[in-house]
Amino acid sequence: MNLLLYGAPGSGKGTQANMLRSHFGIPHIATGDMLRAEIAAGTPLGQKAQPILAAGKYVSDDIMIAMIRNRLTQPDSTLGFIIDGFPRTIPQAEALDTLMGRLRRHFDRVLYLKVDTEELLRRLSGRLVCPQCQRTYPPGTAACEADGSALVQREDDKAEAVKPRIEIYLQKTIPVLDHYRGENLVSEIDGMGTIDDISRQVLAAVTPVVKTKTA
Ligand code: ADP
Repeated sequence: MNLLLYGAPGSGKGTQANMLRSHFGIPHIATGDMLRAEIAAGTPLGQKAQPILAAGKYVSDDIMIAMIRNRLTQPDSTLGFIIDGFPRTIPQAEALDTLMGRLRRHFDRVLYLKVDTEELLRRLSGRLVCPQCQRTYPPGTAACEADGSALVQREDDKAEAVKPRIEIYLQKTIPVLDHYRGENLVSEIDGMGTIDDISRQVLAAVTPVVKTKTA
């Protein structure tokens, strides 16, 4: 099962990716989390990426393509994957097509979680995140329910970076969906409901894939 997950910042991608990961036992490959791990470890790449993420801008295609190429050739992704956060630009999409061809793999479904901009702004303002497991929580929550860690605010969830992130997503990444629409791969999911409603829609969208694979 090879899935791509799309949705603007705050659309609930992380939550649905976690659900899919436990449901299908395939890795959740989140390029944002990978970049934040590089930043936390203080690697040269992390040092380069830190101000870019803080400003809500995109890291260069070359860096991101190299990162995903390394990740997809690791053994755990041979069973399948959920990629969240890539490809975000057309050159990234083209590079991923080439890589998938070389790995003799194809995408099964591209899921797009649609949420109004107003609702995105509401969800992101004051959102807190667990630095250990990346689960997100509403403002005022003290600790992570899963592992008890003290919650923090993501640097790019601060007010000044939130709007640029949504704008760049709409301008650069939404057009990438058209790349997959031609192949009839995109399922649009209404991301405005409850988490359970959205999970049901997400699972319904991938069920035909499961049926074909087990038939
Ligand atoms: P969100 O979807 O909430 O903005 P992510 O965790 O997916 O958050 O990404 C955080 C940041 O990491 C992005 O704003 C961008 O700076 C960087 N990033 C992640 N993936 C990519 C990518 N494919 N291309 C360029 N930049 C990326």
